[in-house]
Amino acid sequence: MAKLTVRDLDVRGKRVFVRVDYNVPMEEKDGQMVVTDATRIVETIPTLKLLISKGARIILAAHLGRPKGKREPTMSLRPVGLKLHELLGEPVEFADDCIGVSAGKIASALKDGQVALLENARYYKEEEANDPAFAEKLAQFADVYVNDAFGAAHRAHASTEGAARVVAKRGGKCAAGLLMERELKFLGDELENPARPFVVILGGAKVSDKIKVIDRLLEKANTILIGGAMAYTFKLAHGEKVGKSLVEPEHRQTALDAEAKAGKLGVNFQLPADIVVATAVDTGKLNKKGKPVFDYANIQTMKGDIPDDAEGFGIGDETARQYAKILAGAKTILWNGPLGMFEDARFAGGTNIVARAVADATQNSGAKSIIGGGDSVKAINKAKLGDKVTFMSTGGGASLEFLEGGVLPGVAALMDK
Ligand code: ADP
Ligand code: MG
Repeated sequence: MAKLTVRDLDVRGKRVFVRVDYNVPMEEKDGQMVVTDATRIVETIPTLKLLISKGARIILAAHLGRPKGKREPTMSLRPVGLKLHELLGEPVEFADDCIGVSAGKIASALKDGQVALLENARYYKEEEANDPAFAEKLAQFADVYVNDAFGAAHRAHASTEGAARVVAKRGGKCAAGLLMERELKFLGDELENPARPFVVILGGAKVSDKIKVIDRLLEKANTILIGGAMAYTFKLAHGEKVGKSLVEPEHRQTALDAEAKAGKLGVNFQLPADIVVATAVDTGKLNKKGKPVFDYANIQTMKGDIPDDAEGFGIGDETARQYAKILAGAKTILWNGPLGMFEDARFAGGTNIVARAVADATQNSGAKSIIGGGDSVKAINKAKLGDKVTFMSTGGGASLEFLEGGVLPGVAALMDK
């Protein structure tokens, strides 16, 4: 059933606790922390504008980084408050504690249509522990609970779950924000009864990350197109050689089971025909994180057994064009997982051809295209096609769990319409 949303609420004069995802990248500049990418803040503006126009008294809660229960000054949300003020064009009060006197003072002084932001909820270890007493304190002043942080909804924390329960127990409404509403619509409702053909593109590094998603989507899709390092475990399961490619030998049976299930259900299950391989060469250098930096030699596209010293890094052009042809006839497209190591331009070719095909199907034949997964979204953005697809999830790990058919605690805590 559809969840109650901010559109359905009568909030004039009410204190509305809104959980947002303001876990934004920051950088130190001249001794101050500044927001380097405000996308997540921008994305909450429609929900905030709607609540302001309805006369709500808005109390925003969020987390930043992993301060592990300590007041870590570099992880303060104060700079986020400044950025929000700039983007919203309205004053934003800042409470330098998410509970207690400071939060209470600011929350009780709010007038209709005013906004306050609470300091990082993860300054308290009780946040991630979903401690009931802490949730009680967080929601102390809230008449209504709204969650617009889909990316944090797969965690049962005090601000994503506990606080909603507190408000509900008191007879208050618990609803989805507009951003959350869109995520539930596209990753949920739209895929329940998709327009057909429904084509799923699955890539990424590991079969083990995607077993549940593959299993669930096999029951819904007409076609599944496989790419990424995941494809090599399938190859290995067929008795082919994979050289030094990233594989999970322990998941060979999982791969065979998926193909068998596809056969039984009549799903067109496609594996890459050609692969871009290379030989990794240790440069002897270390990156910022202290990990060895590799360069790649002998880059070539090939079929069949991968040589012993080579490693697969993406789908070849023939595969990409074959996938593009299938996508041209699709009416619904779901994409999770890049089809190669797209971060390196030399291995992004296949992913980019497929990204272009998804954009074309969306623009030219009215297909609905839905992109889930943090790296998949990065790949589409890198190909500059973000505005040519129907929907890109903001959820990262949460979108994968949702696509698996899992119940996200932050979603379960919201009321049905
Ligand atoms: P998402 O975040 O969209 O769910 P994943 O996290 O599952 O996607 O996978 C993305 C990662 O998989 C990327 O960092 C990419 O470099 C890696 N990857 C894809 N194909 C390969 C490959 N052939 N070899 C090594 N890594 C790969
Ligand atoms: Mg990822």
